Amino acid sequence: MSRVESIRQSTREFSERRLRPVARAIDERNSVPEDVLREVAEMGYFSLRVPEEYGGPGLSVLESTIAIEELARVSSAIAIMATVSGSMVPYPIAKYGTEEQKERYLGILAKGGIGAFALTEPCCGSDASAITTRGTIEGDEIVIEGTKTYITNAPYADFFLVAVRTGREEDRHKGISLVILDKSPCIKISKLDMMGYRGSGTSELRLEGCRTSLSNVIGEVNGGFKKIMMTLNEGRVTTAATGLGIMQAAFEEAFEYSKQRTSMGVPIIEHQMVQHLIAEMNVLLETSRLIVYEAARRLDAEDPEAPRYASIAKLFTASRGVDLVRMAMQVLGGFGYSRDSVVERLYRDIKMIEIGDGTNEIQRLVIVKSLLGKIRPS
Ligand SMILES: Cc1cc2nc3c(=O)[nH]c(=O)nc-3n(C[C@H](O)[C@H](O)[C@H](O)COP(=O)(O)OP(=O)(O)OC[C@H]3O[C@@H](n4cnc5c(N)ncnc54)[C@H](O)[C@@H]3O)c2cc1C
Repeated sequence: MSRVESIRQSTREFSERRLRPVARAIDERNSVPEDVLREVAEMGYFSLRVPEEYGGPGLSVLESTIAIEELARVSSAIAIMATVSGSMVPYPIAKYGTEEQKERYLGILAKGGIGAFALTEPCCGSDASAITTRGTIEGDEIVIEGTKTYITNAPYADFFLVAVRTGREEDRHKGISLVILDKSPCIKISKLDMMGYRGSGTSELRLEGCRTSLSNVIGEVNGGFKKIMMTLNEGRVTTAATGLGIMQAAFEEAFEYSKQRTSMGVPIIEHQMVQHLIAEMNVLLETSRLIVYEAARRLDAEDPEAPRYASIAKLFTASRGVDLVRMAMQVLGGFGYSRDSVVERLYRDIKMIEIGDGTNEIQRLVIVKSLLGKIRPS
């Protein structure tokens, strides 16, 4: 069995055994039980991309994508937590961090810790170059003041990667730094009551005079923006992977139901219009899978076209995923619309893929900028 297939198989086994029994409660209670968090961390899902030399599983983007897809097939909340802590947090530290940052923070993840990535603010999500959270340099420290919002993992996190404005506002993207901030009482966390991905800890953070060492800047001061954009490329593929897992789950639910539910004397799968829905869903699922894996392979190969493929994968999976889950609900009829059905949760969860890590509109912008040669990885 290939390494990729063994990751798929072991993650499916773990998800069925450990996450299936608690997935509904995670959504209803909007939190993950501590013992589950610990086991997910011990399995390495919160440190997927931490290289082996720092104690992590050292998975490639494609391998992480497959692990996240399998987690999302059972619990979207755990999958998005793994996307952030296992991919978006270790990526910039491993790629651009100092040896000291790698030893300390990749080490925390490898030992079962959790990381969060704090970019979005109440003022601005799509326009990341307009952020206002201030990072003031005082001696060998940066003092951080501001508010971040919709931050995944926040209540569970041991440390945060925070985008701060260290330069002038008029310098836009050229005045932004990416800094590491340890969990501290200066970070006031308010959990938000979101429609989906419930339990993943989506929160607002008020940063009140938080201090971090200048040695915790990733790369150079005012040089964070490009690093953040590169991180989002990987985030787009792994977020698309959570969409894939949701699509797979919705397809399985609808297909099984269509074989059991009878109407007019036959299982509904015998009705040609239901067959049409099932076939259409299968096409959307398999084409999304192809494009997400292709984008992951291109990121692994450091292909210059990888950012465009990451946006294509995210955009396609998001919009087709919403279509697929709507069709699944249609196959389930009234039951699909009831809180007793899994598809009701999937319907709420899939919508986030059209918003998080850059909305559908922003992916279209990236695709065109990339076609015009205005985006190049570094
Ligand atoms: C469940 C969840 C988890 C999240 N987790 C995180 C996280 O861990 N860390 C983090 O930093 N953020 C996180 N986010 C935030 C997410 O990345 C932002 O919500 C997203 O980038 C959109 O920003 P916004 O909400 O400010 O919308 P806005 O930027 O205000 O956009 C509003 C609308 O305007 C459109 N729009 C804006 N600008 C343009 C343009 N130039 N051209 C065309 N249309 C445009 C958008 O597409 C959208 O339709 C999360 C969000 C959710 C819902």
